[in-house]
This record gives sequence, C-alpha cells and structure tokens, in this order.
Amino acid sequence: MIYKRSSALFKEAKEYIPGGVNSPVRAFNAVGGDPIFVKYAKGAYLYDEDDNRLVDYIASWGPLILGHAFQPVIDAVIEKAKKGTSFGMPTQIETEIAKLAVNMVPNIDQIRFVNSGTEACMSAVRLARGFSGKDKIVKFAGCYHGHSDSFLIQAGSGAVTFGSPNSPGVTQGTAKDTLLAVYNDLSSVQELVDKNQNEIAAIIIEPVAGNMGCIIPNKGFLEGLRKLCDENGILLIFDEVMTGFRLAKGGAQEKLNINADIVTFGKVIGGGLPVGAFAARKEIMDFLAPTGPVYQAGTLSGNPLAMAAGLTMLQHLNNNQEVFKSLEEKTAYLHKGLDKVLSNAGLTYVINSLGSMISVHFTNEPVIDFASAAKGNNEMFKKYFHGMLAEGVYLPPSAFESYFLNDAITYDDLDFTINAAAKVAKTL
Ligand SMILES: *Cc1c(COP(=O)(O)O)cnc(C)c1O
Repeated sequence: MIYKRSSALFKEAKEYIPGGVNSPVRAFNAVGGDPIFVKYAKGAYLYDEDDNRLVDYIASWGPLILGHAFQPVIDAVIEKAKKGTSFGMPTQIETEIAKLAVNMVPNIDQIRFVNSGTEACMSAVRLARGFSGKDKIVKFAGCYHGHSDSFLIQAGSGAVTFGSPNSPGVTQGTAKDTLLAVYNDLSSVQELVDKNQNEIAAIIIEPVAGNMGCIIPNKGFLEGLRKLCDENGILLIFDEVMTGFRLAKGGAQEKLNINADIVTFGKVIGGGLPVGAFAARKEIMDFLAPTGPVYQAGTLSGNPLAMAAGLTMLQHLNNNQEVFKSLEEKTAYLHKGLDKVLSNAGLTYVINSLGSMISVHFTNEPVIDFASAAKGNNEMFKKYFHGMLAEGVYLPPSAFESYFLNDAITYDDLDFTINAAAKVAKTL
C-alpha cells in the first residue's frame, strides 16, 4: 500500500503541531515510519488519505465498540446539534444518561460527567482524598490513568515509549504522594500499605490492564486488593475508562464480580465524543461540590452532543447485550487464529486476551506485569506492525497497547487478518 499523501500531510502537520499530532502515540514513535492520516471511516474500516482501506483494531482506542460512524449515534448527534451545542445549564439528557449508567453498572448510586478519562481519574483521586482525609495513592507500574500529574509515574500507554519513567514537569511534591506497586503482585501492595499506615487514600488500578498490552489479573489478585482496602480503610478505584461498557454492560466489576468504591469511565461512554465520568456510592459522591466540599467543575461537562452520543451508545448496548458475547467470541477466534499462524511460523510469542481486548507480545515468558511486557522483542513487533499495515490491517502502533475489537468486524475480516498475519509471520 502507498502512504504518500499521509506522509506529506504529516510533514506539514509537524510544522504547526508539536510532533504533528495532538496525542503522542499517534505519531508512530514506537514503531517508526509516518502515521496514517484518516479521511473517513465506516463500520470496521478506516479509509485513509491515500484511499487505502484498513481493517481497524483500535476503534479510536476503544470508544467505537459498535464500529465507526454507527448510524444511531450519528443521527442522535446531528439532531441534537440543531437545537444548540452547549448551554452551561442543566439539560434533561444528562439525567437520562446518568440514570441509565447507574442502572447498568453495579455498586454505583451517582455519576458525574466530565470531558475525558484523564479528568475522570484526576477527579476520582481528589474525591478519594477529600473523602478519606488522606493524601497518598497507590498505582501500578504500566497502568495508565490519563496524563494528570499524579499518574505520570511509570505510566503505561504512550508514556512508556519515551524512555523515561516519569515526565518532566511533574513536581517531586506530587510524585511523592504516588506509591508504585507491581501488577499481579499483592505482596508489593501489602508492603506499601504496611509502610504507609493511615496515609493511603486510594488504590487505583485498571482491573484488566490495557496500557501495557492486555494484561489479565491473576485469580485472587483483585480480590486480594479488595480485602486489603477493606482492612485498611482504603478506597479501591477501578479505572474502567477502557473496560467500562466493553467487557460487560457493568464493565470489569460485573465481569470479574468485584466491587470497587469509585469507578471511572471514558471511551465507550462517550460513543466517540469527548466524555469521561466517575461514579460511586452516594455517601462518597456526597463529598463532591456543590453538595460537598471537594471541588470539581467543567464548562463543557455534560455537553448535549456528547451526552446524545453517549446515551445512544449505552442504550444500544443495554438493549443488545449479546454484543458483549459476540465480541468475546470474535476475539477468541482471532486469538486462536493468530496463535496458529504465529506458532506455525516457529515464532516465540505470548497472546493475552480477555473479552474484546487482546495483545501479542514477542517474548517467551508469561506477560503478567510491566516488567514482563517490557521484555518483548520490540524490533520484531515493529516488523509485525508494519507488515500488517502493508496488508491492510491497522493494529495499535505500540506493543504497550491492547487491540480493541469492534462488533462491525466480521468473521471474514478476522480471516483476512489471520491470513495477513500468516504471511507477515514468515518474514519475522
Ligand atoms: C485512555 C485511558 C485513560 C485516559 O483517558 P483520556 O480520555 O485519553 O484522557 C485513562 N485510563 C485508562 C485505563 C485509559 O485507557
């Protein structure tokens, strides 16, 4: 495939936008080469500026669980736009989507809408600190909770591909309140809890990690965290920005049958428009302004276009819960197919998948945390990525990202992908 026009557009973009992109991972730094500029997309396919068609395994990094330009969402946004795009005043649709979200997700009474996953996680931690009167938080190496200061300590996703565990610009004062644990290692958490008695407000985690590839919690790990939190008066925050409304209608809490104290959302909840949210039991949410003292606000929060897209998406998922099963079956089919062709080619690899999340790591040991994910052969990953791209398959441009299947992907698309992988595998 030819990517001439994309490359020319990237060159021009770099003159006016830092690195040519508005979010770093889009720049292909981790895999090399120029990024693809997209012209439009429909269903499972991206159409780029050079008129190539690509099968998309990112779905805008998760939101488009039903595929691109899903008609009911598009129609809802257009109809809403005709009535005005923003008021800075309450609207009925905010209550409608809040009510639906609270009904779909276990263990939450109230939800507050914001504009991104970053804002949701940042606000959730502030709420946890305000509620508990404690300052420190525990996060896990390789987990990504958006780009706010407290979380840019060994963050996953795009942050890991820049070679420095922490971003310049985050003060030591902030960094010292973020304690770092190892994913799937309860003893690493126990140690932090023991050393910081009565100082930890919350433990925040991706219940299924998707920002260091797809990493699945070991049996007993999340249960152990829940117990540790209960015994020590620590709030458990599930960052479900990725897993919420994706792994099940009630997200990872439902799928893995564990309750969190605060849950954050983004991605699917906005149906492809900028939305984040955080939710909890009423006694916790009561601490939030204007009811309580913890301040949090937003000029465009609850924006009518974003709410129309999100509400339509959630309604569709709620009314068609077989979608989650369908996605899971498609992902299992892809897992099996990739497994077969990579193993036939004699490669050393690990495939992790859960629900509609899946990742391929070129390593010979189980990928269970950041250290094991980081051992993957990055040169091989780059060749695999570019090989697949040349075949018309768009995978996440970094080994530290999960694929997100969307339900517009057909079994023919999956076979096309597996055949492409068979071809590419022989060249690795
Ligand atoms: C994407 C993501 C975020 C950040 O959301 P943005 O909308 O990009 O700010 C936070 N947490 C997780 C788990 C994510 O995957």
